Amino acid sequence: MSNFLSERICQLSVSATLEMSKRTRELKAEGHDIIDLSIGEPDFNTPVSVKEAAKKAIDHNQTHYTPVSGLPELRKAIAAKLLQENRIEYAPDQIVVSNGAKQSIANAMLCLVNPGDEVVIPAPYWVSYPEIAKLAGGSVVKIPTSVESNFKVTPGQVRSVLNHKSKVFVFSSPSNPTGSSYTYEELRALAEVFAGFPNLFLISDEIYEYIIFNGSHTSLAIFPGIKNRVVTINGLSKGCAMTGWRLGYMAADAALAKACDKLQGQITSNASSISQMAAVEGIRLNPQNSSEIREMVQAFKQRRDIVLDYMKEIPEMKTCLPDGAFYIFPDVRALFGKSNGSVKITNDMDLSMYLLNEARVAVVPGAAFGNENCIRISYATSLENLEKAMRRIIVSVKKLS
Ligand code: PMP
Ligand code: GLU
Repeated sequence: MSNFLSERICQLSVSATLEMSKRTRELKAEGHDIIDLSIGEPDFNTPVSVKEAAKKAIDHNQTHYTPVSGLPELRKAIAAKLLQENRIEYAPDQIVVSNGAKQSIANAMLCLVNPGDEVVIPAPYWVSYPEIAKLAGGSVVKIPTSVESNFKVTPGQVRSVLNHKSKVFVFSSPSNPTGSSYTYEELRALAEVFAGFPNLFLISDEIYEYIIFNGSHTSLAIFPGIKNRVVTINGLSKGCAMTGWRLGYMAADAALAKACDKLQGQITSNASSISQMAAVEGIRLNPQNSSEIREMVQAFKQRRDIVLDYMKEIPEMKTCLPDGAFYIFPDVRALFGKSNGSVKITNDMDLSMYLLNEARVAVVPGAAFGNENCIRISYATSLENLEKAMRRIIVSVKKLS
């Protein structure tokens, strides 16, 4: 049979993060002793009160369809959270609950982008942004950054790429894969540039807002001049250790929220009613009022510091101080051209494969995030695993000359 698959799907790349963790799971199942630093998800349990709320939902038969955009009480609770914690005012009808932040980003992109519209993405970026943009027919414009600028874009860089075809600008702060986060001042300066492009929408992915160690989180939508054009993306996957529950949301202009409701209504309908009831409890938790979340964030900070200590022994891997999330994104260019006698490292993929085969540590090549000079290391695993992995990486890198 000739290729029957649509061009749309043929042009789509496989998610490198999911692919690498799938490969690692397979190798482990075959009995290989691999330490997985490829996937980015909290290795902590969902808070007890959230699990209790879900059990109660099942026992009370809250097992039916809900409104596509989510239960009214959940949307109300999200609006209250956004007002109290993020200082952004949204009415419940501006909120659409979905099966994870990933779906919310896809909803927004598909509702905003026409074929040929430009989707501007600072690189490094989370793997799915350009792919979702492509799926929507967008033409992706990347803004490169480097470790020297903590992988952050400047207002000047943004101004130089924006034009009348730019429809969406999408970024995450704190960032996956770099851990960098934009300060209030930096966002304010970017907001001033965005204000000059009235047709541009800003997708602000704030999924790591609680996992921040230096400074505090600022939401892009607090800047009044651009608020109507900001799509605030968030969810419970990272901050509440709920990746498997599939619960995310967006908050945006009411007409855009209504369009996303229409799209979701034809594709997936509502997110799981049980996860939504769990989220009514989860959404009220934060690092200030939940010891479980606070302890998780403190553990990530401790791990970051320990990983960075080990990194001092590998000067060929140049990294900045991540402010949050649970990744480091070292520039590994200094290792390109080196060899252990049998394997030559020419790029990020070679190095990732070398670390997998030689150190038995899984990482993700940076090219998947838009920077082929880097690799991504996730420290969302136990200290014991991390120390073992870092020692193995050091030994393997020392074999290269
Ligand atoms: N945005 C970023 C930056 C992420 O790292 C992730 C996690 N893969 C997501 C969105 C998706 O989150 P969710 O599990 O809620 O779909
Ligand atoms: N946030 C995670 C990562 O980047 C989850 C995997 C995914 O959805 O891409 O590794």
